[in-house]
Amino acid sequence: FDMFVLAFLERFFRPIYKKDDIVLGKKLGEGSFGSVYRVSLARKPSSKPADLVLKKATEYGAVEIWMNERVRRACANSCADFLYGFRETSSKKGAEYWLLWRFEGEATLADLMQSRDFPYNVESLILREVQDLPKGLDRENRIILTIMRQLLFALDGLHSTGIVHRDIKPQNIIFSEGSRAFKIIDLGAAADLRVGINYIPKEFLLDPRYAAPEQYIMSTQTPSAPSAPVATALSPVLWQLNLPDRFDIYSIGLIFLQMAFPGLRSDNSLIQFNRQLKRCDYDLVSWRQSVEPRAGPELRKGFELLDLDGGIGWELLTSMVRFKARQRISAKTALAHPYFDREGLLALSFIQ
Ligand code: ADP
Ligand code: MG
Repeated sequence: FDMFVLAFLERFFRPIYKKDDIVLGKKLGEGSFGSVYRVSLARKPSSKPADLVLKKATEYGAVEIWMNERVRRACANSCADFLYGFRETSSKKGAEYWLLWRFEGEATLADLMQSRDFPYNVESLILREVQDLPKGLDRENRIILTIMRQLLFALDGLHSTGIVHRDIKPQNIIFSEGSRAFKIIDLGAAADLRVGINYIPKEFLLDPRYAAPEQYIMSTQTPSAPSAPVATALSPVLWQLNLPDRFDIYSIGLIFLQMAFPGLRSDNSLIQFNRQLKRCDYDLVSWRQSVEPRAGPELRKGFELLDLDGGIGWELLTSMVRFKARQRISAKTALAHPYFDREGLLALSFIQ
């Protein structure tokens, strides 16, 4: 099929939703830029109501619609299934943007990681055959490895499309029950580098728990001219970064760290870790040297897990969490890392 024919057909046959079709359900989230609800949608009384998620966003929702439209066409599997976005003017608060996605599932990675049973609570969700390995580091490593592969796969899709997410964190990763895989959500802070849509309102703070150190550099970069109509309309602050995708890689690296170290999963312990790492000039190896001698069982367990198979997990982690963006591995290269390749692992230990 010709791409133009497809676009033409879609223009006429894609369903259009409007305010009156939507029945609000439970509130799922509330941020400074909008609220998120589980909603249902019954178009015909006879049909089963669709299970959807609605975000009522402020004026910044326009960019989020743009990002979701691009993702839907270019890398649909990376993110929650986007249906439709529109401007809603009847609200008393002035114009809002309403965005609709399919309801992917109940749990984010943050919810799942909070369980004492993590990562075993994810095992039956993502691995089809139940492992006959006894509970222990090997089995946990295999589950974490599978989650990491899914996250990097989704992120590589976004990056190959030219989109940097900039707010990667467990709260913005949803487990899709239909796809049996993790998907990225919340493109509200994303930047599209191909067309220059790259807008973060000044009151938006990147989440300091997961942000790479260069967050402080970005706002001082010289803005470049906006090149797309949407960007112009919003008079965005634009900036150019070298290898901006590596910003997301740092965040994914911190998620890897939290999965490996049970003691770093809480907000407080992650904040404390960030402080320690900063004191070590963002060098994970010196962080390890400073904490390992007096490490409790929870820290020791993380090092043990990453040290499996000749330390291949630790090698991957340290190639993601680095101060200099250009020294961080890309999502695509990370997917080819021997950590993900069990045969590769055997070969490696054979060579050693
Ligand atoms: P916010 O800007 O409030 O952070 P998000 O897009 O991250 O908005 O959504 C808030 C929460 O709503 C998420 O953390 C998740 O729990 C839930 N959520 C968002 N999108 C979906 C979806 N497609 N399916 C299921 N839950 C979702
Ligand atoms: Mg969010």
